[in-house]
Amino acid sequence: MLNLPKRKRMKNDGPFCPACKSLKNSTIYKDHLHLIKCLDCGVIFNNTHQALDYNDTYFTTQYCAQYGKTYAEDFDNIYRNSLRRLDTIFKLLKSRIDPAALRMIDIGSAMGFFLKAAKDKGLEHVSGIEVSKFASDYCKSKFHINVINAPFDEAGLKGMYDIITAWYFIEHCSDPAAVVKKIFDSLQTGGIFAFSVPSCFGPLYIFNRDEWAGTHPEDHRIDFSPLTVRRFLKKTGFSRISVYPGGIHPERLIPGGFFLSKPVKILYTGISRCLSFSDTMEIFAVK
Ligand SMILES: [Zn+2]
Repeated sequence: MLNLPKRKRMKNDGPFCPACKSLKNSTIYKDHLHLIKCLDCGVIFNNTHQALDYNDTYFTTQYCAQYGKTYAEDFDNIYRNSLRRLDTIFKLLKSRIDPAALRMIDIGSAMGFFLKAAKDKGLEHVSGIEVSKFASDYCKSKFHINVINAPFDEAGLKGMYDIITAWYFIEHCSDPAAVVKKIFDSLQTGGIFAFSVPSCFGPLYIFNRDEWAGTHPEDHRIDFSPLTVRRFLKKTGFSRISVYPGGIHPERLIPGGFFLSKPVKILYTGISRCLSFSDTMEIFAVK
């Protein structure tokens, strides 16, 4: 059931939007006043955001608790998704598609499965940045791919790239606008920025906002929708922006797993594809 609280206007001396720096905002949920909507660019941001200690257990016990298997055991699924994402990137690169000549970096490269897929696709100059020593060591020893084991703020981006990827990374940044600007500045003209983030234009936010707000991660700084992420990237300078649903889950339409007939599922899938209606999204943008 929809639970849409009344908006409460805040004073203009309050928190500023991490995407556009505007001070015009409103709270979106009466029980969670730290979750704020920018009235200028439309993003939702977390005013009490704090980075967590991203230790090695994320890839083992924490991941297992969430998905029923460790990150390493989820290789097949992550690798398959990586190949699909690379296909989309190559389509956007068009004439510049000599993979061996391309320079690519994956920010938040985890255990390196996306980098491994890129290497298998013919990219020779690939590297990663990963805060977890366990994950970066795994990638280096298992796939022989260079990974800088440091937070992005320390590692930075050296030189120019043809492809920069960041899967579920941007939402963790305290200053996402500065990070995306740095990415834009580090891309060759015609280069691709591909990333994924949670989306607030999905069934969880729209139909079950209690759960969305109650489970909102404290280390997530910003929530985009397909509309607001396009606006944000365009303002940074990107063009040819494509947004795809990260997953299509008609069962999330009704909380509690209500039975849905086949036509409703087909309709939902069509709408989700057309509007990128999903709890997560993948974005591909050209400099
Ligand atoms: Zn804003």
